[in-house]
Amino acid sequence: MIYPIVKFGNPVLEKPAEAVTVFDDALKKLVEDMFESMYEAHGVGLAAPQIGISKRLAVIDVTFKEDPEAKLVLANPEIVHTEGKHTQPEGCLSIPEFREPVTRPRKVTIRAQDVNGEWYEKTREELLARAFLHETDHLNGKLYISHISALKRDLIKRSRVPNMKVLAAKGCECARPRLESTQPVANFLRRALKIDSAIFFFQDGRQRGFCVVLRTRSYRAGNQSPQSLHH
Ligand code: ZN
Repeated sequence: MIYPIVKFGNPVLEKPAEAVTVFDDALKKLVEDMFESMYEAHGVGLAAPQIGISKRLAVIDVTFKEDPEAKLVLANPEIVHTEGKHTQPEGCLSIPEFREPVTRPRKVTIRAQDVNGEWYEKTREELLARAFLHETDHLNGKLYISHISALKRDLIKRSRVPNMKVLAAKGCECARPRLESTQPVANFLRRALKIDSAIFFFQDGRQRGFCVVLRTRSYRAGNQSPQSLHH
């Protein structure tokens, strides 16, 4: 079963989750559903509160289906050791359309239970270390934006954009849901449908692409540029 992703603003994302105490078939099914929901949303990590279930449970697959061995279940995870510093843009399925650089420890040791309740410990660096921290934060009711400057956080809070929907994106990391498409789609949307849409070009050193964003209702124009909302 694919669960819808709970979005920023829902209180379940900002309260500490309850420990997982029963490792039964229902939990296995939930874990399977979480992987499915995560892949559907094009994510590499998903915590149970993000599907509205306040349990200390998260799934991670930073290879996005490429390596079945990379599928990780984190039940009742604890960060036991961290080292160094690393800054990378970070996003969250619950805060779509935003990515912000976040400085976190580079190397992280986590202790968690697997789907059968067996404890394990893993030390990983960079992307996976970041996923450990990001997902554990979720289970403590903390979102990644708590690690960025108050100014930027405020901008994100004020400009939550449920009224804007990404319709098509090419090469854009921040677009979710990512409907792979190309320029003609953008042109079609503007010309044939005459909808109030905009194309945002972006370039961030590594890649170039575009997002087509449908403006469905009351986009607050004026105080922010679309680019600043989006990237
Ligand atoms: Zn997240």
